[in-house]
Amino acid sequence: DSAQVLVRPADDVLQSVYAAIDARAERRRKYAALRELASATLDQARVSLNMNAGLLIDMQHLEETGADGIGLYRTEIPFMVRSEFPDVDAQAWLYGRVLDVADGKPVTFRTLDVGGDKVLPYVGAFGDENPAMGWRAIRIGLDRPAMLRRQLRALIQAANGRPLSVMFPMIAEVAELLQARGLLDLELERARRRGQAVPHRLRVGVMFEVPALAWQLDSLLPHVDFISVGTNDLMQFMYAADRGNTRLANRYDPLSPAMLQILKRIIDHCGEHGVEVSICGEMAGKPLDALALLALGFRNLSMSASGIGPVRAAIRKVVLAEFEPFVVDLLGSDEPSVRERLRAFALDRGVDVL
Ligand code: PEP
Ligand code: MG
Repeated sequence: DSAQVLVRPADDVLQSVYAAIDARAERRRKYAALRELASATLDQARVSLNMNAGLLIDMQHLEETGADGIGLYRTEIPFMVRSEFPDVDAQAWLYGRVLDVADGKPVTFRTLDVGGDKVLPYVGAFGDENPAMGWRAIRIGLDRPAMLRRQLRALIQAANGRPLSVMFPMIAEVAELLQARGLLDLELERARRRGQAVPHRLRVGVMFEVPALAWQLDSLLPHVDFISVGTNDLMQFMYAADRGNTRLANRYDPLSPAMLQILKRIIDHCGEHGVEVSICGEMAGKPLDALALLALGFRNLSMSASGIGPVRAAIRKVVLAEFEPFVVDLLGSDEPSVRERLRAFALDRGVDVL
Protein backbone atom coordinates (compact mmCIF):
# COMPACT_ATOMS: atom_id res chain seq x y z
CA ASP A 1 0.00 0.00 0.00
CA SER A 2 2.71 2.44 0.87
CA ALA A 3 5.29 1.10 -1.62
CA GLN A 4 7.78 0.50 1.17
CA VAL A 5 10.15 -2.38 1.70
CA LEU A 6 11.30 -2.81 5.30
CA VAL A 7 14.53 -4.73 5.63
CA ARG A 8 14.80 -6.73 8.88
CA PRO A 9 11.82 -5.00 10.55
CA ALA A 10 11.75 -4.79 14.34
CA ASP A 11 9.21 -6.90 16.26
CA ASP A 12 6.84 -4.04 16.94
CA VAL A 13 6.81 -3.14 13.24
CA LEU A 14 6.07 -6.76 12.34
CA GLN A 15 3.26 -6.87 14.86
CA SER A 16 1.64 -3.76 13.55
CA VAL A 17 1.87 -5.08 9.97
CA TYR A 18 0.23 -8.35 11.05
CA ALA A 19 -2.47 -6.42 12.89
CA ALA A 20 -3.15 -4.37 9.76
CA ILE A 21 -3.39 -7.56 7.67
CA ASP A 22 -5.86 -9.05 10.17
CA ALA A 23 -7.92 -5.90 10.16
CA ARG A 24 -8.01 -5.97 6.39
CA ALA A 25 -9.14 -9.60 6.35
CA GLU A 26 -11.88 -8.66 8.80
CA ARG A 27 -13.02 -5.80 6.56
CA ARG A 28 -13.01 -8.18 3.58
CA ARG A 29 -15.27 -10.58 5.47
CA LYS A 30 -17.65 -7.74 6.27
CA TYR A 31 -17.81 -6.64 2.62
CA ALA A 32 -18.08 -10.22 1.35
CA ALA A 33 -21.30 -10.46 3.33
CA LEU A 34 -22.62 -7.56 1.24
CA ARG A 35 -21.71 -9.04 -2.12
CA GLU A 36 -25.17 -10.37 -2.91
CA LEU A 37 -26.90 -7.14 -1.95
CA ALA A 38 -27.86 -4.66 -4.67
CA SER A 39 -25.59 -1.69 -5.18
CA ALA A 40 -28.38 0.82 -5.02
CA THR A 41 -28.94 3.98 -3.01
CA LEU A 42 -31.76 4.28 -0.47
CA ASP A 43 -33.80 6.05 -3.13
CA GLN A 44 -33.23 3.17 -5.56
CA ALA A 45 -30.59 4.56 -7.92
CA ARG A 46 -28.89 1.43 -9.20
CA VAL A 47 -25.14 1.60 -9.78
CA SER A 48 -23.15 -0.90 -11.79
CA LEU A 49 -19.95 -1.79 -9.91
CA ASN A 50 -17.19 -3.27 -12.01
CA MET A 51 -13.64 -4.32 -11.48
CA ASN A 52 -10.34 -3.35 -13.07
CA ALA A 53 -8.06 -6.28 -13.87
CA GLY A 54 -4.83 -7.02 -15.68
CA LEU A 55 -3.72 -10.52 -14.78
CA LEU A 56 -5.65 -13.78 -14.89
CA ILE A 57 -5.18 -14.07 -11.16
CA ASP A 58 -7.18 -10.86 -10.68
CA MET A 59 -10.17 -12.58 -12.23
CA GLN A 60 -10.86 -14.59 -9.06
CA HIS A 61 -12.00 -11.36 -7.42
CA LEU A 62 -14.89 -11.09 -9.85
CA GLU A 63 -16.78 -13.81 -8.03
CA GLU A 64 -15.47 -12.82 -4.60
CA THR A 65 -16.58 -9.19 -4.84
CA GLY A 66 -19.80 -9.80 -6.75
CA ALA A 67 -18.70 -7.20 -9.35
CA ASP A 68 -20.98 -6.85 -12.39
CA GLY A 69 -18.10 -7.24 -14.85
CA ILE A 70 -14.62 -6.10 -15.80
CA GLY A 71 -14.85 -2.41 -16.68
CA LEU A 72 -11.17 -2.17 -17.58
CA TYR A 73 -8.93 -5.04 -18.57
CA ARG A 74 -5.43 -3.57 -18.87
CA THR A 75 -4.01 -5.75 -21.63
CA GLU A 76 -0.50 -4.39 -21.23
CA ILE A 77 -0.03 -5.96 -17.79
CA PRO A 78 0.49 -9.52 -19.11
CA PHE A 79 2.86 -8.07 -21.73
CA MET A 80 4.90 -6.45 -18.97
CA VAL A 81 5.79 -9.74 -17.33
CA ARG A 82 7.16 -11.27 -20.55
CA SER A 83 10.52 -10.91 -22.19
CA GLU A 84 9.20 -10.77 -25.75
CA PHE A 85 6.08 -9.70 -27.57
CA PRO A 86 3.40 -12.43 -27.36
CA ASP A 87 2.16 -13.63 -30.77
CA VAL A 88 -1.49 -13.62 -31.85
CA ASP A 89 -2.20 -17.15 -30.60
CA ALA A 90 -0.69 -16.50 -27.17
CA GLN A 91 -2.70 -13.29 -26.87
CA ALA A 92 -5.89 -14.95 -28.10
CA TRP A 93 -5.48 -17.73 -25.53
CA LEU A 94 -5.10 -15.21 -22.73
CA TYR A 95 -8.06 -13.02 -23.72
CA GLY A 96 -10.15 -16.13 -24.28
CA ARG A 97 -9.36 -17.32 -20.75
CA VAL A 98 -10.42 -13.93 -19.37
CA LEU A 99 -13.77 -14.23 -21.18
CA ASP A 100 -14.16 -17.85 -20.02
CA VAL A 101 -13.58 -16.95 -16.39
CA ALA A 102 -15.89 -13.93 -16.65
CA ASP A 103 -18.52 -16.46 -17.69
CA GLY A 104 -20.82 -14.08 -19.53
CA LYS A 105 -20.21 -11.02 -17.38
CA PRO A 106 -19.11 -8.13 -19.60
CA VAL A 107 -15.39 -7.48 -20.05
CA THR A 108 -13.97 -4.32 -21.59
CA PHE A 109 -10.53 -4.85 -23.09
CA ARG A 110 -8.32 -1.84 -23.41
CA THR A 111 -5.76 -2.07 -26.20
CA LEU A 112 -2.11 -1.77 -25.27
CA ASP A 113 -1.31 1.24 -23.14
CA VAL A 114 2.45 1.01 -23.05
CA GLY A 115 4.84 3.88 -22.66
CA GLY A 116 4.24 6.38 -19.89
CA ASP A 117 4.50 4.57 -16.58
CA LYS A 118 4.28 1.13 -18.24
CA VAL A 119 7.52 0.25 -19.92
CA LEU A 120 7.95 -2.85 -22.06
CA PRO A 121 11.54 -3.86 -22.56
CA TYR A 122 10.85 -4.70 -26.22
CA VAL A 123 8.55 -1.82 -27.34
CA GLY A 124 8.52 1.72 -26.54
CA ALA A 125 9.67 5.04 -26.00
CA PHE A 126 13.09 5.23 -24.59
CA GLY A 127 14.45 8.66 -24.02
CA ASP A 128 11.12 10.52 -24.17
CA GLU A 129 11.55 13.54 -21.97
CA ASN A 130 7.95 13.34 -20.71
CA PRO A 131 6.98 9.69 -21.14
CA ALA A 132 3.40 10.19 -19.88
CA MET A 133 2.91 12.71 -22.65
CA GLY A 134 5.19 10.96 -25.07
CA TRP A 135 4.99 8.13 -27.54
CA ARG A 136 2.56 5.89 -25.71
CA ALA A 137 -0.70 3.96 -25.95
CA ILE A 138 -2.72 4.57 -29.12
CA ARG A 139 0.07 6.77 -30.50
CA ILE A 140 2.31 3.69 -30.67
CA GLY A 141 -0.59 1.59 -31.94
CA LEU A 142 -1.28 3.94 -34.86
CA ASP A 143 2.40 4.36 -35.74
CA ARG A 144 2.93 0.59 -35.54
CA PRO A 145 -0.41 -0.59 -36.96
CA ALA A 146 0.80 -4.17 -37.40
CA MET A 147 1.17 -4.46 -33.64
CA LEU A 148 -2.28 -3.05 -32.90
CA ARG A 149 -3.83 -5.16 -35.66
CA ARG A 150 -2.34 -8.30 -34.17
CA GLN A 151 -3.89 -7.44 -30.84
CA LEU A 152 -7.30 -6.73 -32.40
CA ARG A 153 -7.03 -9.99 -34.35
CA ALA A 154 -6.33 -11.84 -31.11
CA LEU A 155 -9.32 -10.22 -29.41
CA ILE A 156 -11.66 -11.19 -32.26
CA GLN A 157 -10.23 -14.71 -32.24
CA ALA A 158 -10.63 -14.94 -28.45
CA ALA A 159 -14.23 -13.76 -28.52
CA ASN A 160 -14.99 -16.50 -31.05
CA GLY A 161 -18.46 -15.15 -31.70
CA ARG A 162 -19.08 -13.97 -28.12
CA PRO A 163 -19.72 -10.25 -27.43
CA LEU A 164 -16.60 -8.08 -27.46
CA SER A 165 -15.92 -4.64 -26.00
CA VAL A 166 -12.76 -2.84 -27.02
CA MET A 167 -11.53 0.55 -25.94
CA PHE A 168 -8.66 2.68 -27.10
CA PRO A 169 -6.48 4.51 -24.57
CA MET A 170 -5.17 8.09 -24.67
CA ILE A 171 -7.30 9.23 -27.58
CA ALA A 172 -6.65 12.96 -28.00
CA GLU A 173 -8.52 13.70 -31.21
CA VAL A 174 -11.39 12.21 -33.19
CA ALA A 175 -9.14 11.28 -36.14
CA GLU A 176 -7.17 8.91 -33.89
CA LEU A 177 -10.31 7.04 -32.96
CA LEU A 178 -11.39 6.82 -36.60
CA GLN A 179 -8.01 5.45 -37.59
CA ALA A 180 -8.09 2.87 -34.77
CA ARG A 181 -11.64 1.87 -35.72
CA GLY A 182 -10.45 1.51 -39.30
CA LEU A 183 -7.86 -1.05 -38.16
CA LEU A 184 -10.53 -2.91 -36.22
CA ASP A 185 -12.75 -2.96 -39.32
CA LEU A 186 -9.88 -4.41 -41.35
CA GLU A 187 -9.50 -7.20 -38.81
CA LEU A 188 -13.24 -7.93 -38.77
CA GLU A 189 -13.18 -8.10 -42.54
CA ARG A 190 -10.17 -10.41 -42.43
CA ALA A 191 -11.92 -12.75 -39.98
CA ARG A 192 -15.06 -12.83 -42.15
CA ARG A 193 -13.06 -13.54 -45.28
CA ARG A 194 -11.49 -16.51 -43.57
CA GLY A 195 -14.81 -17.80 -42.35
CA GLN A 196 -13.95 -17.13 -38.71
CA ALA A 197 -16.57 -16.14 -36.17
CA VAL A 198 -16.93 -12.41 -35.52
CA PRO A 199 -18.31 -11.04 -32.23
CA HIS A 200 -22.10 -11.13 -32.29
CA ARG A 201 -22.09 -7.83 -30.45
CA LEU A 202 -19.18 -5.42 -30.77
CA ARG A 203 -18.85 -2.31 -28.60
CA VAL A 204 -16.15 0.24 -29.34
CA GLY A 205 -15.17 2.90 -26.85
CA VAL A 206 -12.63 5.50 -25.97
CA MET A 207 -10.85 6.25 -22.76
CA PHE A 208 -11.29 9.87 -21.79
CA GLU A 209 -7.92 10.80 -20.36
CA VAL A 210 -6.85 13.82 -22.39
CA PRO A 211 -8.63 17.09 -21.52
CA ALA A 212 -8.70 18.26 -25.18
CA LEU A 213 -11.45 15.68 -25.80
CA ALA A 214 -13.82 17.75 -23.66
CA TRP A 215 -14.14 20.15 -26.60
CA GLN A 216 -14.56 17.45 -29.23
CA LEU A 217 -17.37 15.48 -27.61
CA ASP A 218 -20.01 16.44 -30.16
CA SER A 219 -17.88 15.15 -33.02
CA LEU A 220 -16.49 12.16 -31.09
CA LEU A 221 -19.61 10.69 -29.50
CA PRO A 222 -21.45 9.74 -32.73
CA HIS A 223 -18.55 7.33 -33.42
CA VAL A 224 -18.47 5.41 -30.14
CA ASP A 225 -20.66 3.08 -28.14
CA PHE A 226 -19.18 4.14 -24.80
CA ILE A 227 -16.71 6.39 -23.04
CA SER A 228 -14.70 5.34 -20.01
CA VAL A 229 -13.14 8.15 -18.03
CA GLY A 230 -9.62 7.37 -16.83
CA THR A 231 -9.42 9.82 -13.99
CA ASN A 232 -5.82 8.88 -13.14
CA ASP A 233 -4.45 10.27 -16.36
CA LEU A 234 -7.15 12.91 -16.68
CA MET A 235 -6.14 14.29 -13.27
CA GLN A 236 -2.45 14.29 -14.21
CA PHE A 237 -3.12 16.21 -17.42
CA MET A 238 -5.68 18.59 -15.90
CA TYR A 239 -3.25 19.69 -13.21
CA ALA A 240 0.01 19.07 -15.10
CA ALA A 241 0.97 16.92 -12.13
CA ASP A 242 2.85 13.65 -12.61
CA ARG A 243 0.61 10.91 -11.16
CA GLY A 244 3.62 8.96 -9.90
CA ASN A 245 5.33 11.80 -8.10
CA THR A 246 4.84 11.30 -4.37
CA ARG A 247 5.64 14.94 -3.67
CA LEU A 248 2.54 15.91 -5.64
CA ALA A 249 0.34 13.07 -4.42
CA ASN A 250 -1.79 15.21 -2.11
CA ARG A 251 -1.37 18.53 -3.78
CA TYR A 252 -4.41 18.45 -6.08
CA ASP A 253 -7.71 16.79 -5.37
CA PRO A 254 -10.01 15.03 -7.83
CA LEU A 255 -12.83 16.44 -5.70
CA SER A 256 -12.00 19.92 -6.99
CA PRO A 257 -14.52 22.11 -8.83
CA ALA A 258 -12.35 21.97 -11.98
CA MET A 259 -12.31 18.19 -12.11
CA LEU A 260 -15.97 17.85 -11.15
CA GLN A 261 -16.89 20.32 -13.88
CA ILE A 262 -15.10 18.43 -16.63
CA LEU A 263 -16.72 15.20 -15.42
CA LYS A 264 -20.12 16.89 -15.48
CA ARG A 265 -19.46 18.12 -19.00
CA ILE A 266 -18.63 14.56 -20.10
CA ILE A 267 -21.70 13.00 -18.54
CA ASP A 268 -24.02 15.69 -19.88
CA HIS A 269 -22.74 15.27 -23.44
CA CYS A 270 -22.91 11.48 -23.24
CA GLY A 271 -26.50 11.79 -22.03
CA GLU A 272 -27.40 14.05 -24.98
CA HIS A 273 -25.83 11.62 -27.45
CA GLY A 274 -27.18 8.48 -25.74
CA VAL A 275 -23.66 7.11 -25.25
CA GLU A 276 -22.85 4.94 -22.22
CA VAL A 277 -20.28 6.34 -19.85
CA SER A 278 -18.31 4.93 -16.95
CA ILE A 279 -15.39 5.85 -14.72
CA CYS A 280 -12.42 3.52 -14.45
CA GLY A 281 -9.79 5.59 -12.59
CA GLU A 282 -8.84 5.06 -8.95
CA MET A 283 -11.27 7.75 -7.92
CA ALA A 284 -14.17 5.35 -8.53
CA GLY A 285 -12.91 3.02 -5.78
CA LYS A 286 -12.93 5.60 -3.00
CA PRO A 287 -16.31 5.80 -1.26
CA LEU A 288 -16.56 9.58 -0.88
CA ASP A 289 -15.35 10.20 -4.44
CA ALA A 290 -17.70 7.53 -5.72
CA LEU A 291 -20.65 9.30 -4.05
CA ALA A 292 -19.64 12.56 -5.75
CA LEU A 293 -19.55 10.72 -9.09
CA LEU A 294 -23.01 9.32 -8.46
CA ALA A 295 -24.28 12.78 -7.67
CA LEU A 296 -22.89 14.02 -11.01
CA GLY A 297 -24.90 11.29 -12.74
CA PHE A 298 -22.43 8.42 -13.24
CA ARG A 299 -24.05 5.01 -12.75
CA ASN A 300 -21.20 2.77 -13.86
CA LEU A 301 -17.95 2.63 -11.89
CA SER A 302 -14.95 0.37 -12.37
CA MET A 303 -12.29 0.06 -9.70
CA SER A 304 -9.73 -2.21 -8.09
CA ALA A 305 -11.31 -5.22 -6.44
CA SER A 306 -10.59 -3.86 -2.96
CA GLY A 307 -12.80 -0.81 -3.61
CA ILE A 308 -15.99 -2.69 -4.45
CA GLY A 309 -17.05 -3.63 -0.92
CA PRO A 310 -16.50 -0.20 0.64
CA VAL A 311 -18.11 1.61 -2.31
CA ARG A 312 -21.12 -0.72 -2.27
CA ALA A 313 -21.52 -0.18 1.48
CA ALA A 314 -21.43 3.62 1.06
CA ILE A 315 -23.89 3.63 -1.86
CA ARG A 316 -26.40 1.63 0.16
CA LYS A 317 -26.47 4.31 2.87
CA VAL A 318 -27.20 7.42 0.83
CA VAL A 319 -30.28 9.17 -0.42
CA LEU A 320 -29.01 10.36 -3.78
CA ALA A 321 -31.68 13.04 -4.08
CA GLU A 322 -29.99 14.80 -1.12
CA PHE A 323 -26.46 14.53 -2.53
CA GLU A 324 -27.20 15.63 -6.07
CA PRO A 325 -28.13 19.28 -5.44
CA PHE A 326 -25.38 19.60 -2.85
CA VAL A 327 -22.69 18.45 -5.29
CA VAL A 328 -24.09 20.50 -8.16
CA ASP A 329 -23.82 23.58 -5.91
CA LEU A 330 -20.21 22.75 -5.14
CA LEU A 331 -19.33 22.89 -8.84
CA GLY A 332 -19.32 26.66 -8.55
CA SER A 333 -17.19 26.73 -5.39
CA ASP A 334 -13.98 28.77 -5.45
CA GLU A 335 -12.24 26.45 -3.01
CA PRO A 336 -9.48 24.21 -4.41
CA SER A 337 -11.10 21.10 -2.92
CA VAL A 338 -14.64 20.36 -1.79
CA ARG A 339 -13.67 17.10 -0.08
CA GLU A 340 -14.15 18.32 3.50
CA ARG A 341 -17.52 19.88 2.69
CA LEU A 342 -18.67 16.68 1.06
CA ARG A 343 -17.37 14.56 3.91
CA ALA A 344 -19.14 16.72 6.51
CA PHE A 345 -22.38 16.50 4.50
CA ALA A 346 -22.07 12.70 4.35
CA LEU A 347 -21.25 12.36 8.05
CA ASP A 348 -24.23 14.54 9.01
CA ARG A 349 -26.43 12.03 7.21
CA GLY A 350 -24.89 9.05 8.95
CA VAL A 351 -22.78 7.99 5.96
CA ASP A 352 -19.42 7.19 7.44
CA VAL A 353 -16.91 7.59 4.61
CA LEU A 354 -13.17 8.07 4.79
C1 PEP B 1 -6.61 6.05 -15.90
O1 PEP B 1 -5.75 6.70 -16.51
O2 PEP B 1 -7.39 6.54 -15.08
C2 PEP B 1 -6.74 4.58 -16.12
C3 PEP B 1 -7.74 3.91 -15.61
O3 PEP B 1 -5.77 3.98 -16.84
P1 PEP B 1 -4.34 3.63 -16.23
O4 PEP B 1 -4.40 3.85 -14.75
O5 PEP B 1 -4.06 2.22 -16.61
O6 PEP B 1 -3.47 4.62 -16.94
MG1 MG C 1 -4.61 5.91 -18.12
